[in-house]
Amino acid sequence: MTFEILPFLKSMLSVAGLSGYEASIRDVITPVWQELSDQTWVSSHGSLHAMCYGEGAEPRPKVMIAAHMDAIGLMVTGIEDGFLRITQVGGVDPRILPGQFVTVHGSQSGQTVELPGMVVMPPAHLLPKDGQKGPLPQKYLLVDTGLRAEEVEKLVRVGDVISFATEPRELSGDTLSGHTLDNRASVAATTFALDMLSRRKHLWDVIAVATSQEEVGGIGAMGSSFDIMPDFAIVIDVTFAKGPGGGDAVLFDMGKTITNTWGSCDHPALYEAMKATADEYEIPLARDFAPSGSGTDAYDVQIAQAGIPVVELGIPLRYMHTPVEVVSIKDVKRAGRLMAEFISNLPLDFMNTVRWE
Ligand SMILES: [Zn+2]
Repeated sequence: MTFEILPFLKSMLSVAGLSGYEASIRDVITPVWQELSDQTWVSSHGSLHAMCYGEGAEPRPKVMIAAHMDAIGLMVTGIEDGFLRITQVGGVDPRILPGQFVTVHGSQSGQTVELPGMVVMPPAHLLPKDGQKGPLPQKYLLVDTGLRAEEVEKLVRVGDVISFATEPRELSGDTLSGHTLDNRASVAATTFALDMLSRRKHLWDVIAVATSQEEVGGIGAMGSSFDIMPDFAIVIDVTFAKGPGGGDAVLFDMGKTITNTWGSCDHPALYEAMKATADEYEIPLARDFAPSGSGTDAYDVQIAQAGIPVVELGIPLRYMHTPVEVVSIKDVKRAGRLMAEFISNLPLDFMNTVRWE
């Protein structure tokens, strides 16, 4: 199989897979990872695991690559005259919601029914005073499916999820836009690494994990860490790219670099080893920082077992947690290549050099 990153990433952006409801995205990733690994299995919390055996003598050390596959979105909290009241799954800013095309995941006779719809708001002059100026409070937002009230009552229940229906869009200049590039860009990078490693010698066992439920608390990553018991882990997620309104915070030029996080979740010796590999292969790797926890799966992996050493990579992304996130494909490939170079150069006794000093 020849693996092509762009069509694969776009196919991942065309499915829902909200946190806790990852089956649809897992079904897209599974056949690709099956081709690139020796064995795949699904964790009790729905994370996808792919094992690539190394060539070292047993018992071999193990490295886990964790990239979350779940998406933020919405959930039905009530039905009023056929219109759906909504809340959030993960962190969605309600200011970006009005006018968004969405898919309501209802059911009929036990089968899932996908209903097209959109987030709507009443005209401003019909709203009470607190809704007439500025961003509209979420309590006024509704989803309209176009169906009559009695049909909606049959197909939709409170607790059904609603996903963004934005289609991926190739922009000019090596950039791609779509919903859930956080963090499917990293799943694509991980797959790029698996593809490279399938043609390389590597002594270590490599287990790729597309984790579930990161956006609601790192739940999949925690369970997978215990399931796999890796010697150390690479956690890859997106980070803030430079863009309008970013201020003076440390932000990264999309398309120019990927990041290596320095903070309490990140093992200093692994940070240095990753940096050394990036320097050797001339892969730009900027320092990101996370002084009190990282807000990614890194924390949940780090505190599993007796504590798993973690190194954390980031792909710069614009417009995080909106339906039009943007990444550079160059950065996605860079991250994949760096992970593959790092892993294929791991000596069997590498962990002897990993000390927290
Ligand atoms: Zn993320």
